[in-house]
Amino acid sequence: MTEHIVVVGALNADLAIRVDRLPAPGETVSGRDVEVLPGGKAANQAVAAARLGGRVRLVGAVGDDDSGRMLREHAAAAGVDTSFVAMLPEVPTGQAIIPVDDAGENSIILVPGANGAIGPENIPVEAYADAAIVCLSLEVPLPVVLRAAARAVAAGAAVVLNPSPFRPLPGELLDAVSVLIVNELEAEQLLGPTVAPAWPGAAKALRAALQPHGIDRIVVTRGAAGAVVVDGKAVTEVHATSVDAVDTTGAGDAFTGALAVRLAEGDPLAAAAAEASVVAAFSTTRRGAQPSYPTASELAEWR
Ligand code: ATP
Repeated sequence: MTEHIVVVGALNADLAIRVDRLPAPGETVSGRDVEVLPGGKAANQAVAAARLGGRVRLVGAVGDDDSGRMLREHAAAAGVDTSFVAMLPEVPTGQAIIPVDDAGENSIILVPGANGAIGPENIPVEAYADAAIVCLSLEVPLPVVLRAAARAVAAGAAVVLNPSPFRPLPGELLDAVSVLIVNELEAEQLLGPTVAPAWPGAAKALRAALQPHGIDRIVVTRGAAGAVVVDGKAVTEVHATSVDAVDTTGAGDAFTGALAVRLAEGDPLAAAAAEASVVAAFSTTRRGAQPSYPTASELAEWR
């Protein structure tokens, strides 16, 4: 593989806390086993892809602090080119506070820090040389995402958008997208309040809603229920690998990173999603986001 995967977006220090159950509004619960782990959607996707052998550049920003250095070091150790990760003065590195319950379910509070301070000027054109796939997510300001999408299109790369955390998507961004990856909640938000999705049939409604923007390649991830893949007129169900999940944090990012590797190698979308589903399932068997992602040889041994 000679072509690059460029991942643009957030790097976060994840403060992971084990809880018996996630707190309801107004409720206090006790936590234990507090850990600071490398995270952030873009950093996660980049590490997932690089561990599997992808040639990956990460574009984003951290603060000039210990968390920022830790995040860059972790990504570099996985084989990611971090030379396009800016170190911004006077803002802290982004943080995510993540309680995880005994069933492996999580909630997330994001504190953007450097991820909120990054601007279009931090998206250098050099990062896109030989780019085949550009992965975008929404933990950084929209002007940054738009600039990254425009650079990707200019470089002839396919834009893979994971619109998370969800916000209304401008037509200008949707027009640039080749592959949209959403979880069930994001799919519902895209479809709007009048459509109650029943999968896999609802994938067709999603395709119809996105057709005006030329998007006919869509993946809906459904946690332990697997994924639904739309590729033109074909709708394919991808089953989840049955595992004893201990922590689903970052499973979606493992899926996206693995999908990007397979797409860069020229796999059709459904085949790429089937492989991504195995990688994501593996990631739920270990704690944390990045530390849970397999190398190609770990994956081969496990399956
Ligand atoms: P997160 O925000 O936790 O990273 P997400 O909501 O973006 O996740 P999910 O749909 O929960 O994404 O999960 C992505 C993929 O991970 C699923 O399509 C599936 O392939 C795999 N996966 C998630 N949870 C499980 C599980 N419990 N068992 C097996 N596979 C799983």
